Amino acid sequence: MSDTYLDLVSSGPAASLAKKLGLPKPARLRRTDPSSPDCPLTPGPVLVLSDGGSGTDADTVASDLLAWDLDVRRDTRLGEHDRWGAVVLVLTGLSHPAGLSEPALALGSVLRRLAPGARVVTLSRGAPPALAAPVGADPAVSAARNAVDGFLRSLAKELRAGATGNGLVLADGVGLSAPSVRGGLRFLLSARSAFVDGQLLQVGSDGGAEPADWTRPLVGGVAVVTGAARGIGAEVVRVLARDGARVLGVDVPAAGEALSTVMNSVGGIALQLDVTADDAAERILEVARSRFGHLDIVVHNAGILRDKLLANMTPERFDGLLAVNISAPLRMNETFAAPGTLGGDGVAPRIISLASTSGIAGNRGQTNYGAAKAGIIGMTRALAGPVGEAGGTVNAVAPGFIETEMTASIPPVPRQMARWGSSLQQGGRPVDVAEAIAFLASPQAGGVNGQTLRVCGQMMVGQ
Ligand code: NAD
Repeated sequence: MSDTYLDLVSSGPAASLAKKLGLPKPARLRRTDPSSPDCPLTPGPVLVLSDGGSGTDADTVASDLLAWDLDVRRDTRLGEHDRWGAVVLVLTGLSHPAGLSEPALALGSVLRRLAPGARVVTLSRGAPPALAAPVGADPAVSAARNAVDGFLRSLAKELRAGATGNGLVLADGVGLSAPSVRGGLRFLLSARSAFVDGQLLQVGSDGGAEPADWTRPLVGGVAVVTGAARGIGAEVVRVLARDGARVLGVDVPAAGEALSTVMNSVGGIALQLDVTADDAAERILEVARSRFGHLDIVVHNAGILRDKLLANMTPERFDGLLAVNISAPLRMNETFAAPGTLGGDGVAPRIISLASTSGIAGNRGQTNYGAAKAGIIGMTRALAGPVGEAGGTVNAVAPGFIETEMTASIPPVPRQMARWGSSLQQGGRPVDVAEAIAFLASPQAGGVNGQTLRVCGQMMVGQ
């Protein structure tokens, strides 16, 4: 597994051999310590830089960061032995790509002084990059907004020592103090976003609410996680429970024992159920309501791999995969996304599904899997509108290469290449995906809707 490789190349004779061969030496990522969830947000002072037109917005961000007890600086001077914990670039006033030069070069001048695991976060305005600009949009403004996208994604590929670069893109009209801007900024600065790199997350509205306690934002919420017996699903159960939710875990009867162990460890409920059953959603709702009174958060995580080149594909492999990975979430959402089904006790509905970078970039041998995971992204976009009108959100996460039993079945050479194919030069851990899901499930993420957040260490494939 990647940690063994990391240990090997970090010291001793293997380290010098690896260096001679030019093999990657991945950094240890800054991750949350489960025993102390309120560890410092950043590993050092935070520098706030802005473009010429964003002065007031930069002041707002700086005072928010100060209120979180961070050491906030507005110029690039730093003590001889200090290292920057984060740089926040406020680019909301950008009206021409040329305006990027001053803050970009100021950032460049401090890059060699970033602490291990530091964060660079951009705050800018615009629609999601994939969308056309509205009719009548100023080409220079549109160019400037998209320039932030290319700048950030390229910068993230230059960062070292576990540092990451990500951005929040605010729709016009969304204020800097909106819950999802503040909540998104906290997530991206924190250790919770360890394997999110080179990504821009759209905040589409002022929706959502700040939690009473940032370390337990899900108190009062009830969640169901499918495929909870192992891998990513088991970690999602643990992280949602750590954040205060009561959790129901679902898995097939064959995984019943492992499921019970996971659910007992968090005082949750285990439900043995195949998600392809016609009445799966109704059974989940019945159990959640009878044990907890309501259901608020649905995590569609259960999934399978049935890789084969299309020339060798069988109907069992193609149809069997689609049944679990996309038809089951689609069918269950007919119930979960219906008005009045999810939410209660003041907790807003949340539906979060597992997509994959294979559904974005495609992957050889995975026509079935790529189709299903791209289908998840399409389903997410379509449900965002109606569920959003009812005060909820529907989002997806797209993991890249994550170390689980699923990926342990990939042959060794492509497995190692997949690890090295990301900017962070390693595979992610299930907890990295779980943290992103917990953020999207939180009340502060209420302004993020219809999005697919990649948790992939910036895989070189795809956008
Ligand atoms: P995993 O194989 O380790 O775990 C999947 C779980 O889902 C298992 O416990 C399995 O029993 C359960 N499951 C399978 N079919 C089911 C069914 N019909 N009903 C109920 N439960 C069922 O997989 P993982 O690596 O933890 O992946 C979890 C999710 O993340 C999947 O949707 C997967 O496609 C997605 N994903 C994983 C990676 C990765 O690198 N591991 C990358 C991208 C996406």
